[in-house]
Amino acid sequence: MRILVVEDERALRSLLVQALREDGHAVDWSEEGEDALHKALGTAYDLILLDVMLPGKDGWEILATLRRERATPVLFLTARDTVDDRVRGLDLGADDYLVKPFALVELLARVRALGRRRQGSGNPTIQLGSAVIDTNLRSVLRGGEAVALTAREYAILELLLSRRGEVITKTEIYEHVFDEQDDSLSNLVEVHISHLRKKLGKELIQTRRGYGYRVPAEGETPTEADEAGQDAP
Ligand code: CA
Repeated sequence: MRILVVEDERALRSLLVQALREDGHAVDWSEEGEDALHKALGTAYDLILLDVMLPGKDGWEILATLRRERATPVLFLTARDTVDDRVRGLDLGADDYLVKPFALVELLARVRALGRRRQGSGNPTIQLGSAVIDTNLRSVLRGGEAVALTAREYAILELLLSRRGEVITKTEIYEHVFDEQDDSLSNLVEVHISHLRKKLGKELIQTRRGYGYRVPAEGETPTEADEAGQDAP
């Protein structure tokens, strides 16, 4: 997922950014309210971790303004734990709420849960052809054998699975899988897709030339469509 971390405490922010990147996410960050709102409105993030007390604009203002334009999932991080605060956050449209100090493992579990909600399924296991994807462990088995995917390959697979049967454009893949620090070489997506097809079976990652890529919908029998593979280097 592409995640925006909004937190003005430097040590906590670094910890969150690093942990989320290690978990395979593309992560941008902001330490100030105006900048955070600008980023949140300008990019289709899959999730925003939003601190409440911030310089510039506070988390409440950011969420209220964001909700007029975008439904991006938001997980509030706050030092205060009062019923009023929780109600206010949820009323403004926050998707979840975590009180500081929190355990990193809990935060990561909630991020995964919000990711599953995005996929419209509470089930952590996804079947794709002969491949079984465990979204908790971020692991893939094919015919019972473990398949080693890089973090980026996994992130692309996860994005394709979040909208099974639909064609996802290269631009969307860039927006959701790479962050501001990534070098946007235009052939990168193709290289990752090519590796994924080799590892999972080329019939599972289909190329729609000039449009993008898709995985078969649930219940659809994957066939080696004639356009599959034409874009593979
Ligand atoms: Ca703060």
